[in-house]
Amino acid sequence: MHSQGTLYTISAPSGAGKTSLVAKLLARTPRLGVSVSHTTRPMRPGEVDGVNYHFVSHAEFEQMLNSAAFLEHAQVFDNFYGTSQRWVESQLAAGEDVILEIDWQGAQQVRHLMPDTVAIFIMPPSKEALNERLTGRGQDDGAVIQRRMDAAVAEMSHFVEGDYVVINDDFDTALADLEAIVRSHRLTLASQQQRHAALLSALLS
Ligand code: GDP
Ligand code: ADP
Ligand code: 5GP
Repeated sequence: MHSQGTLYTISAPSGAGKTSLVAKLLARTPRLGVSVSHTTRPMRPGEVDGVNYHFVSHAEFEQMLNSAAFLEHAQVFDNFYGTSQRWVESQLAAGEDVILEIDWQGAQQVRHLMPDTVAIFIMPPSKEALNERLTGRGQDDGAVIQRRMDAAVAEMSHFVEGDYVVINDDFDTALADLEAIVRSHRLTLASQQQRHAALLSALLS
């Protein structure tokens, strides 16, 4: 009998570093996975279907929506994004912790459906740094970057809905902060009671 995993949402303005931070966090943390979203956004150079996203047409997305395949979905910029409900639920049921890298609209939906969700916001150290990271990533053209900068303030204004706020100034410090959040959640009474039920019962007998 496994204990139920913890669900995390990580939200941030585009370019704040959530994808790079989550990739490193996963490499260092056992029993932690990231949900691969479905999106109608065109693939960027270097992205791989099924790894970064499941890239789908509008028709396919709509069909999944109609068959209630999504735990949550949202329109971000001009594209649709959605999280597979089946994948997330099967991972949690198997005792794996799961991260959703989703926007604030999605984070709100998930929190409503699953109140135990841990919500994390990642913030950049400054607007200038955010602009530099979006430009430096070299994957979006100038007009797209400008739209993302304009949308950044709106996304960041939701940080008060988070349980944790991580400032991604120094990358390794932000990574250590994320590791600390996951680690401390694994040590809560509720988590430890599930995970070590047999031990705790034996110690008290
Ligand atoms: P990035 O922010 O530069 O990494 O750009 P992306 O295209 O990867 O993500 C665009 C936006 O969509 C971000 O705000 C994500 O948090 C959000 N997003 C990605 N996947 C999902 C999802 O499955 N559901 C929801 N609601 N939002 C998502
Ligand atoms: P997001 O997924 O939030 O859009 P990315 O992970 O793609 O962000 O990061 C955006 C860019 O910023 C990438 O080129 C990444 O290497 C860079 N980056 C991330 N964190 C830092 C940091 N702490 N200092 C400098 N550059 C960073
Ligand atoms: P990008 O297109 O740059 O990869 O992502 C743009 C935004 O969409 C990011 O803020 C990202 O977090 C969000 N996003 C990506 N996937 C999902 C998803 O499945 N659901 C929601 N709600 N947002 C998503």
